[in-house]
Amino acid sequence: MNHLLLELANTRQTYRKMLNLYWITIVLTAILEYAIFLMEAGTSPSAFFQALLSQAFCLTVVTGAVEILYRYRKLQSDWLLILTGIFYATSIILMNPSIGIVPAIYIFPILTSVLSFNKKRIVAAFALVLLSFAALYLISPELRLTMQPVHTIGILFLYTGTTVIALSITSSGIELLDNLKHATEAKQELLVKNIIMDKLSKLDALTSLYNHKTFHEYLEKLIDQHERNELPLQLAIIDIDNFKKINDTFGHWVGDIILMRVAGIIKETVSPNDFVARYGGEEFAVIFTDKTLEDAYDLAEQIRHKLSVTLHPELDSQAATISIGLHTYTKGHGKEGLFKGADTSLYAAKRTGKNKTVVHSAFVDPVGV
Ligand code: GH3
Ligand code: MG
Ligand code: MG
Repeated sequence: MNHLLLELANTRQTYRKMLNLYWITIVLTAILEYAIFLMEAGTSPSAFFQALLSQAFCLTVVTGAVEILYRYRKLQSDWLLILTGIFYATSIILMNPSIGIVPAIYIFPILTSVLSFNKKRIVAAFALVLLSFAALYLISPELRLTMQPVHTIGILFLYTGTTVIALSITSSGIELLDNLKHATEAKQELLVKNIIMDKLSKLDALTSLYNHKTFHEYLEKLIDQHERNELPLQLAIIDIDNFKKINDTFGHWVGDIILMRVAGIIKETVSPNDFVARYGGEEFAVIFTDKTLEDAYDLAEQIRHKLSVTLHPELDSQAATISIGLHTYTKGHGKEGLFKGADTSLYAAKRTGKNKTVVHSAFVDPVGV
């Protein structure tokens, strides 16, 4: 069965509903037989009730077996439902062979097979119906007597017509679900594309770090949070030393490689709660969260130290160093205050020899640590 249809059938509990229908049919069959008995004089009441009881018993046993398999073995078989349907129809025909239209009841198992949403099952149900009808025709002289050739042809047309309808219902169902599946897939694809686009618009293409715009958005949110909860917050601005010289000496493409390497080292050194962005050109920004200034300083120094000992083959095995300006956020100072502090510290680091981290002091001029 088509997977989607199977899922649909499972969620809608089609099998359970079908079984309920069979149980109800036992009662309906008894009522039908009783109505026929009342209308047709001739059968003795005791013979009728005996036949009715044995029919109800047989149907209950068969349906009970299917029910047990479903309940305790979790078995859901289209075949069982179709065979049970044939059994029901056969029993009704056997009880009333003298009613000309009674073999029409065989459309019941054909209609049941529609629930399988499987064309092969429908055709199989049709074949089983034809076989059962032929067998009954052969073994029941009463049925042969009742069924005029015109009746037989009519009945065969009825089976064929029902099967054709069953097949076209299944085709439409499958087509409909295929369309639904495609629509759902297209929607999911669009969703994924949107997520990717959204992510790309937040990242820097060269280093895959967050870009300038995202950095500011995030910093604003964090400052907002700090103002309310006083969560610790530090900003480090990192600038590659003498980067112009690297570009001029080794070429722009080597400059790009160094930018990526610096980005990688920053990213691998900070903790997952910290936010790293390429601020612009050869400048990076790190927002440290949930840390003391000492911890943030230690991490900044780790980054600086790692870079100072990383030798790049593209730079004739020299290191590319960085300078860092670090500032911690104080309530009420705002984004500009935080930036100004980190920037002046970076400037101090550059001015006093580069390859160092300077922490901004709120009270005195920036000093090297
Ligand atoms: P300092 O030590 O004072 O920071 O000097 P510097 O040479 O690093 O600084 P400067 O501002 O003079 O030069 C930065 C250079 O970075 C200039 C610019 O061409 C280069 N740059 C900016 N963005 C990129 C980039 O994406 N790729 C490459 N290869 N170079 C870039
Ligand atoms: Mg710079
Ligand atoms: Mg620089």
